[in-house]
This record gives sequence, C-alpha cells and structure tokens, in this order.
Amino acid sequence: MAKTAGVLSTVAFTTAGLPPAAIAAKKAKEVVEVVETVDNTRNFLAAGAVLFAGATAMKLTGGEKAQDFLEADPYYDQSAVPVNVYKNKSPFTGKVVSTKRIVGPKATGETCHIVIDHKGDFPYWEGQSWGVIPPGTREKDGKPHAVRLYSIASSRYGDDMTGNTGSLCVRRATYWCPELKADDPAKKGICSNFLCDTQPGDEVMMTGPAGKVMLMPEEDPTTDYIMVATGTGIAPFRGFIRRLFFEKTPAAKAYKGQAWLFLGVANSDALLYDDEFQEAKSNYPDNFRLDYALSREQENKKGGKMYIQDKVEEYSDEIFNKLDSGAHMYFCGLKGMMPGIQDMLKGVCESKGLDYDEYIKGLKKSGQW
Ligand code: NAP
Repeated sequence: MAKTAGVLSTVAFTTAGLPPAAIAAKKAKEVVEVVETVDNTRNFLAAGAVLFAGATAMKLTGGEKAQDFLEADPYYDQSAVPVNVYKNKSPFTGKVVSTKRIVGPKATGETCHIVIDHKGDFPYWEGQSWGVIPPGTREKDGKPHAVRLYSIASSRYGDDMTGNTGSLCVRRATYWCPELKADDPAKKGICSNFLCDTQPGDEVMMTGPAGKVMLMPEEDPTTDYIMVATGTGIAPFRGFIRRLFFEKTPAAKAYKGQAWLFLGVANSDALLYDDEFQEAKSNYPDNFRLDYALSREQENKKGGKMYIQDKVEEYSDEIFNKLDSGAHMYFCGLKGMMPGIQDMLKGVCESKGLDYDEYIKGLKKSGQW
C-alpha cells in the first residue's frame, strides 16, 4: 500500500455543467469532508522492546523542557506507536487552544490552523491522524455525525513543545450554488466549518490516533524523503519537517538525509506554513529542499496550470535516482495528482528499459512508496 493520506479517499464527483467556481467549491467540499488516512498497512522493523515514554515523563534541564520526553527507546522503534486508543464510542474530549486563518486574502477558500489541547493524554506520532466527531446530529436520520480523519499537522510535541497539544490544518469546505450565485450554507462541510469556527476553550470530540503507514522510517537517519502534497495535504509533512529541522530531539540530531517537499496550492496567498519552510531551508540548505507549484500563478511547460505533478516531472531523473538509492516517497492531498506522477515514473522506467509495474512493486515491498 502506498504511503498516501487523503489521496485514496477522495470521492468521485460530477462537475459537468458547473462554472469553475462551483466545480472548485464542490470539489473542496467533497474532498475535505472525507479526509482519510490509509490505516496500518506497513510492517515495521522493530528492534527490541520499547516503551513509549508518554507525555508525563517530562524532564527539565536548566529551566527548559527537554525535547526528548516523548521518544521511544531507541527513538526510532515503532513497535509501541499508539493506534486507535480512543474510539467512536468512547472519544476523547480535547480543548481548542487557538484557531487561526493561515492564508492570505487572495487564497482560494479559507484554511485554518487549529491547536488542540489534549493534556498529554492523547499522544501520537508524526504522520498519524486524529478523528473529529462534529457536534450535533445528521439531518437525514438524526444520528450522530460520522468521524472525519485529519492528518495531524504538528510533531508529537505540539507547536508549543509541551507534548500537550496537537494541530490540525483544515480548509473550510463551502459549496457555491450556481443558482443562488452564493455559498449555500445548507451544503457546507459540517466538520471543517465546525473546526474553522472554533474558539479557544471549545471542546472537540476526537478519536485515534489513526494510521501507521505515513510514519517516517527513522532507523536510518540518512534516509531521503520526497513529500508531495496538495493544499491541506501538507499537514503530515509539516509534522515531519518540524521533527527533522526544528526540534532538539535525538531524531533531529541524527538526521543526515535530504527531505524534499513539493507543495501545490492555487497561488502565493494560499501557501501554507511557508515561513517555517523557508526557515528550515535557510538553516539546513543541504538537508531540506522546497518546490512549490502555484496552479493559478504559474504555467507548466504545455502552457496549462502548474500542478504538483508537473513540478515533480521537472525533476523526474533526480527523483528516480533518489528512489533507486532508497528514498521514501509520500503523497497527501488530491487524488488527481497521482496519475501524472505515475506517468512520469513510467516514462523514466521506459527510458531505462525497466518494467514500471515491477519497479513500483519493488518500491512498495521495501516500504519506500
Ligand atoms: P485545494 O486548495 O483545492 O487544491 C490545492 C492545489 O491542488 C490547487 O493548486 C489546485 O489547483 C490543485 N489541484 C486541483 N486538482 C488537481 C489535480 N488533479 N492534480 C494536481 N493538483 C490539483 O486543496 P484542499 O482543499 O486543501 O484539499 C487538499 C486535499 O488534501 C483534500 O483532498 C483533503 O481531503 C486532503 N487531505 C487533507 C488533510 C488534512 O489533514 N487537512 C490530510 C490528508 C489529506 P486549482 O484549484 O487551481 O485547480
């Protein structure tokens, strides 16, 4: 199973006859409301027994909280990663710390960064997801709303490094009604609107943490990562980048590989966490690489929209070589990016006389894809 989040969960939708704005809004609603992470499909090399330290094992050094109190022993041992600790029937109640719009005025839609306090009782690893159960009941049958999965956008320590919070990156899903020529509030995304409207102190019913397929293979600190995201699909990769380049953990200290992020958004106002990524790039120019595809500001070589698959294609040989040398490639976001990326690799395989299907099979077998 590929290391994908979100991309496998997007649903088919009909856009025939709708104006572009309605198509975009309809797409956004349908995809954002089914954010989903592929569950545990990878086998991990577990080296010896480990204890997941837990948020309570906090150490203080020189007045500062040490950034290693949530590590396994050794730090890369994934045999005790928490999975589905809180289920639909007995969810966890988190409390919103802050909800902030993180895109500029010309962004398509509204994307928010939501920090949730879990008091250290809901530990997770980078690449995992939290489920959110929006309050209220469904109009059609009066039953409680279903859980929606969102990739966690912070590292396990949370943005405040306390180990007590986690962050979500959520785009408000709205539906543009072509007849009303306005947003139709009756069709807006229930969970994304709930989250984007939260205020500090609001309670959020949560499940998880879900998924192990997007975890980083930290056992080999020279591993190269290729991360490909569209829009809010950036969430897990922000967690990765914070872990690799912003923290004083054993994992960050050991990391000697190169992490390469490709992010596709509509325009520069819609860029997500750009300040952090620029900081990582300037602090670690040899270990962090960043490429953006701005679909409504840039053109691909055929004169069409610059989508993330077009940007990735510009580096096809390099990506092939990296994969050949053991790099791990991750995808998160819109399903539509996948055919372009697969075609690109297929082309490189053909030029090298390799069988593409066998090649991908090999990458999956070694856990690289
Ligand atoms: P979005 O803003 O609608 O789109 C992001 C970019 O992708 C835009 O530049 C868009 O271009 C482009 N795009 C549209 N169709 C594409 C295609 N076929 N191939 C490549 N690029 C394409 O994205 P979003 O609303 O943030 O949604 C991102 C996806 O990530 C959703 O499916 C969401 O479910 C998923 N996701 C989210 C999370 C999370 O935790 N929040 C986690 C996992 C996955 P144009 O608009 O110019 O066409």
